[in-house]
Amino acid sequence: TPESRALLEGKDLTMRFGGLVAMAEVDFSLRKGEVLGIIGPNGAGKSTLLNIITGLYVPSSGEVRLEGELLNGQPAHRIVAKGIARTFQSSRLFADLSVLDNVIIGRHTHMKTGIFEAIFNRRKAEAELDAAAELAEGLLKAVSRELHAQRHRPAGELPQADRRRLEIARALASEPKVLLLDEPSSGMDDSDTDALMDDIRSVCAERPELALMIIEHDMRLIASLPQRVLVLDYGQKLAEGTYEEVRLIPRVQEAYLGR
Ligand code: ADP
Ligand code: MG
Repeated sequence: TPESRALLEGKDLTMRFGGLVAMAEVDFSLRKGEVLGIIGPNGAGKSTLLNIITGLYVPSSGEVRLEGELLNGQPAHRIVAKGIARTFQSSRLFADLSVLDNVIIGRHTHMKTGIFEAIFNRRKAEAELDAAAELAEGLLKAVSRELHAQRHRPAGELPQADRRRLEIARALASEPKVLLLDEPSSGMDDSDTDALMDDIRSVCAERPELALMIIEHDMRLIASLPQRVLVLDYGQKLAEGTYEEVRLIPRVQEAYLGR
């Protein structure tokens, strides 16, 4: 059935950096509405996988497909426009711009007015920007009311947890089919992390079609959110299954506890 078919699929993905094999023959699939967790120790290849999916890295071999269409080889901005949005492990916000403007920037792939047109047809450009601002306001409110209340503050003044929320709101501004989160809880304490996870959960609940891939270092979080977990270690797929299934696998426990 079309519902059980993969929305996003990776086959045989290998990524070499000189002599280093950062990813070796990894397969994955993600269905519409599904939450997939990617776990594994530092250096396992988790961010590399996201970089391949989003076109920042071109895999040495293998392919990534969105709804059957080959993505690898396409530039990153076109992949975003096709419906894949992400956040980064370390925050990439425009610190001096307001919270609201940071979300509006996430809308750029949907804006049609180019710079020349903006100058010669200012009214059209302004209408498009107004529409983007309205959408951005709605997203901020939906992700977190407290964040929305701070929408005119420079993003750089926000505490870490709110910066994470803002990055998620910005990613959602492109109205993605797939959202990729790279260690959203990094650098946060347990109570901030729990609150962020609640917000991520409500983002998903409001978007039953959205497929989410979430990288986490912290096993505790993986227990609560994803339906399925993929375990990477040294660039290899170590295991895949529900959290309850994979956590009992001795090699998974070793990968986590052995180092
Ligand atoms: P993780 O996100 O699981 O901690 P990464 O995907 O960032 O791991 O890294 C996997 C391996 O690939 C590491 O050994 C890392 O040093 C290496 N690596 C990642 N990106 C590059 C790059 N651009 N150039 C060289 N080596 C890289
Ligand atoms: Mg990483």
